[in-house]
Amino acid sequence: MIRLAERGLRAVLLDIEGTTTPIAFVHEALFPYARAHLRAFLDTHWRSAEVAEVRRQLAVERDRDLARGEAPPRVTMGNDDRAIASLVAYIEWLMNLDRNSPGLKLLQGLIWEDGYRAGALRGQVFDDVPAAIREWRAAGVDVAIYSSGSELAQRLLFQSTEHGDLTPLIGAFFDTAIGAKTEPGSYARIATAMKTSPAEILFVSDVAAELTAAREAGLSVVLSRRPGNPPQLVTALETIATFDEIR
Ligand SMILES: [Mg+2]
Repeated sequence: MIRLAERGLRAVLLDIEGTTTPIAFVHEALFPYARAHLRAFLDTHWRSAEVAEVRRQLAVERDRDLARGEAPPRVTMGNDDRAIASLVAYIEWLMNLDRNSPGLKLLQGLIWEDGYRAGALRGQVFDDVPAAIREWRAAGVDVAIYSSGSELAQRLLFQSTEHGDLTPLIGAFFDTAIGAKTEPGSYARIATAMKTSPAEILFVSDVAAELTAAREAGLSVVLSRRPGNPPQLVTALETIATFDEIR
C-alpha cells in the first residue's frame, strides 16, 4: 500500500498502456482501427489542414529514413488517387515496422477522433481507475497522464470510457513532445509544467526503463503489474496490481 500523504506525495503521474488501460486495448482495438480506416480517412480529409500537416511531417521523416539508408515506399506529390495510395503505402510501412513516428501518431489521433465521435471507439480503463482518481482528487492530489500516444488520443480515450468522461479529473496530459519516456529530463520538465517538485510526484508505469528515468529525475515510482503486461526484469521496484493500493 502506498499512502500518498504519509510520503509527502501531492501528485500522481500515470502511464496509460499497461497502467490505466489494458495493453490489448491499444493493440487489439486502436491500432487495427487506424489501419482499417486509413484510406477512407485520407480520401475524406485529404485537403484538410490536419492532413496537410501530417503530409508535411511524414515528408520530413521519410527524408530521414532515406538518409539512414532505408527503403521506404515512394510518396507521390499531388492530390490525385495515386498520391493518396502512395502515402497509404508509406504509412502502412511505418505501421508494419511499429515506428515511433510523430506524423503517424498525429494521423492515428485524427482517425481515432473520428471513431470516438462516431461512437465506434470507446476508451478503456481498468475498473479500479475512476474511483481511485476521484479519491486522489478529493484528497487534493493532482492527477496527470504521460503517454507516448498523442495528447489528443489521450483526451479522447479518457473522455469516452464506460465510466463516463474522466478528463475533468485530470489536470494535464503529456505526450512525447515533452521528451522520451526513458529520459530523466522529460520528467523534470513535467514536474516544472505541473508546478510540483519532482519529490512530490508518484509516477506509475508498467515499464521499468521509464521508472528508472523518472527516479533519476527525483520522482517516486511504482511498477504497475496489470493482467497482460509483459514481465519486467526488476529487483528493487515497489509494485501494485491495482490503483486500490495507492491511497
Ligand atoms: Mg505503459
